Amino acid sequence: DDRAVRALGHLADLHHLVRHHADQPVGRARDGLTALALRQLEVLGLRPEAVPSWTEVRQVVLHSPSGRTVELALPAGPGTHAVVARRRDLDAALVDLARGAGAEVLEGSALLGADRDEKGATVHLEGIGEVRARHVVGADGAWSPLRRAFGLGGAGYRGDWHALRQYVSGTEVGSRLHVLFDAGLLPGYAWAFPLPEGGANVGLGILRGGRVATGDTGPLWRALSSRAPLRDLLGPTAEADGPLRAWPIPAHLGAVPLTAGPVLFVGDAAAVTDPLTGEGIGQALLTGVLAAEAVVATAGGRAGDAAATYAASVRRELGLDHTFGHRLSGVLSSARVTRAGIRAVGATAWSRRNFARWMFEDYPRALVGTPRRWHRGVLSGPGAFATA
Ligand SMILES: Cc1cc2nc3c(=O)[nH]c(=O)nc-3n(C[C@H](O)[C@H](O)[C@H](O)COP(=O)(O)OP(=O)(O)OC[C@H]3O[C@@H](n4cnc5c(N)ncnc54)[C@H](O)[C@@H]3O)c2cc1C
Repeated sequence: DDRAVRALGHLADLHHLVRHHADQPVGRARDGLTALALRQLEVLGLRPEAVPSWTEVRQVVLHSPSGRTVELALPAGPGTHAVVARRRDLDAALVDLARGAGAEVLEGSALLGADRDEKGATVHLEGIGEVRARHVVGADGAWSPLRRAFGLGGAGYRGDWHALRQYVSGTEVGSRLHVLFDAGLLPGYAWAFPLPEGGANVGLGILRGGRVATGDTGPLWRALSSRAPLRDLLGPTAEADGPLRAWPIPAHLGAVPLTAGPVLFVGDAAAVTDPLTGEGIGQALLTGVLAAEAVVATAGGRAGDAAATYAASVRRELGLDHTFGHRLSGVLSSARVTRAGIRAVGATAWSRRNFARWMFEDYPRALVGTPRRWHRGVLSGPGAFATA
């Protein structure tokens, strides 16, 4: 549609896409694509069949700290509300899409340094040299080398969540997606996400500064995976399919700069991950599109116009949901509240269906407090790729 064409056009307008690890796109993520991410991918023109490990999820199981389980069904259709896909596959498909839209993708060249002035910015790329542009978008993750090159602060910031994950084969996870709330992890949680042929992506996320120190997550993970319910989901034949990886998750809009003159930061480099769950693929895609739209909308304007437009649209799209997510995650640190919450979620078919859709970002986190976003069908619209 028109928006997809414009978004692709923006990719081409941005022209250079620098990607550091071509062979190892992202070695750490959990691979869960929420409805927010799926809708962005659809707008960008991604086809599910371009992602070999694309696994649609229709059933979610919540494991309460009490041991009780609640099964949630996502809508059977039309469209898709949650998907698990290996990040390696997804990133490769996105790079193909960008190339197809006319962007020149420079793979395997690390950013070595950067300068900026009132007319634009110059980045220094390994093996390539200097590239000059009117705008530079920093989509370079939680540690953002671009932000560091400009000395833009956030040096002591280690993110709000800390997560670790492992790929496993030969599991008994089946086709359902499991979220495990263990009293020792709250408001963090563990997960087991289904992948094709008995594979799974399993791991845990904790809130920094909470009851678990980041240094204790490895031993905690081993303890969790050796007892029910995680042990039973893994089953007796599960084998690690690679190393256990740990990474920070930045989820605090405002913790690091969103812009600096001609430079716009998106995704983890802008700390826009969902504060409630630590999911950030949808937010990274959304802020990427907003940055591209701001650059295009202000072309021919004054330097700094794109930054102001971009910062305003990020705050409009994500500001309230971030505030709401932070508040809710504070409340969920109590095992009693989490147990009661899961009981309430399981009470009726309506609560089960709508909680699953809300959890997978089918509607904004703070929808209930923002009447301007209420419209007909907001709770019942189709999923992404409904016309695929
Ligand atoms: C264990 C774990 C599980 C997660 N699970 C989920 C999930 O299930 N669902 C979800 O939505 N989110 C999840 N997240 C969060 C999600 O992974 C991030 O929010 C998302 O990947 C952010 O995308 P990004 O493009 O901003 O950054 P990244 O995915 O970190 O990408 C940064 C890119 O910058 C490149 N780069 C870095 N340095 C340089 C350099 N010097 N020069 C050039 N390029 C460079 C890297 O190669 C990389 O390609 C998880 C995070 C963790 C840690």
